[in-house]
Amino acid sequence: MSVLWVLGAGQLGAMLKQAGTPLGVDVRPVDIESTETLALSPSDVVTAEREEWPETVATKQLATHTNFVNLATFPQLADRLTQKQWLDRLELATAPWFPVESDSTAKQAYHTLGERVLLKRRRGGYDGKGQFWLKESESTDIPEDWKGYAIAEQAIQFDEEVSLVGVRGKNGETHFYPLTLNLHINGILYASISPLERLKPLQSKAEAMLSKLMDALDYVGVMAMECFRVGDDLLINELAPRVHNSGHWTQAGASICQFENHVRAVTGLPLAPADVKNQSMMINLIGIDLDYQWLNIEGLELYWYQKEVRLGRKVGHLNFCSGKLAVLETALHTLDMPEPYPTALNWLKDNLP
Ligand code: ATP
Ligand code: MG
Ligand code: MG
Repeated sequence: MSVLWVLGAGQLGAMLKQAGTPLGVDVRPVDIESTETLALSPSDVVTAEREEWPETVATKQLATHTNFVNLATFPQLADRLTQKQWLDRLELATAPWFPVESDSTAKQAYHTLGERVLLKRRRGGYDGKGQFWLKESESTDIPEDWKGYAIAEQAIQFDEEVSLVGVRGKNGETHFYPLTLNLHINGILYASISPLERLKPLQSKAEAMLSKLMDALDYVGVMAMECFRVGDDLLINELAPRVHNSGHWTQAGASICQFENHVRAVTGLPLAPADVKNQSMMINLIGIDLDYQWLNIEGLELYWYQKEVRLGRKVGHLNFCSGKLAVLETALHTLDMPEPYPTALNWLKDNLP
């Protein structure tokens, strides 16, 4: 079996590697700063754990390989401007927006999008970084260095945030996980829960939306679609052409997790529907120290990314999956975590069936 190279060596690359191992796929994440000459063979396959990358010794080698799956899609979705244009072209609902040009004004933003407008940098934003709120009540102006480098989005009064993770094979076959309910605090994902009976009525609508996109892009692999639920409607917030944080629960909660699905799809292995087991929930570990006492908690699965702990940085996650709701409830009661975790734990408790 040939090698699957992953552009990027963060936690997503590590979890792709972990998922490839039982399949006998040699998954090799590559640090974008690596200056090593990679032993790439023509039959190898290349994928990425991130949407964009600087030109480095490592990325140049990978990005010129003929089997880099979805290579043309990455720049299309990594730039919020072209991503939004794709959504509009495919008539997929998204938050109303316009490109912030050199001559754009805040007045124009308030006039077209309302009294609260979210500026998002076109490139490089994640975990809510690269966002700037314009508030008419405070007469906020568009910062000069955002002009030409951002889009402006209407503030959406959503009921909640959900995401759909799907996989598409080379033959166009698709499979989806149940919709996931997500809690973001200050723009960063803290917790997810899936499956939820009450989200079922939205499942086919969401699948049709993501299918349309993946088909239009002739996409192969796992893609995630983050949405705002507003009543019975879904508005697409953003797309990620890769495995996604809101799909981490599938490691515990599905017979084929998102990482395995991505490895299968990009290497051309057979896809099959995943069996979803019981109730899952996921808690991101953000800027907090590793505590092995967590391992005493029934039903808990720890993923620690071996990164230096820094404020606001994702350093791991906890997965829970159980057929006994009492086990999940007890776990939520037992976890003793600092602010703002009590909010996230209560949110999970409130959303358990
Ligand atoms: P990610 O880590 O998911 O890639 P990101 O930095 O790319 O995050 P977004 O997903 O666009 O940013 O936004 C982060 C969060 O900010 C959303 O999950 C949502 O909670 C909030 N948000 C984004 N856009 C809007 C909007 N138009 N109106 C209201 N809230 C929004
Ligand atoms: Mg994003
Ligand atoms: Mg997001």
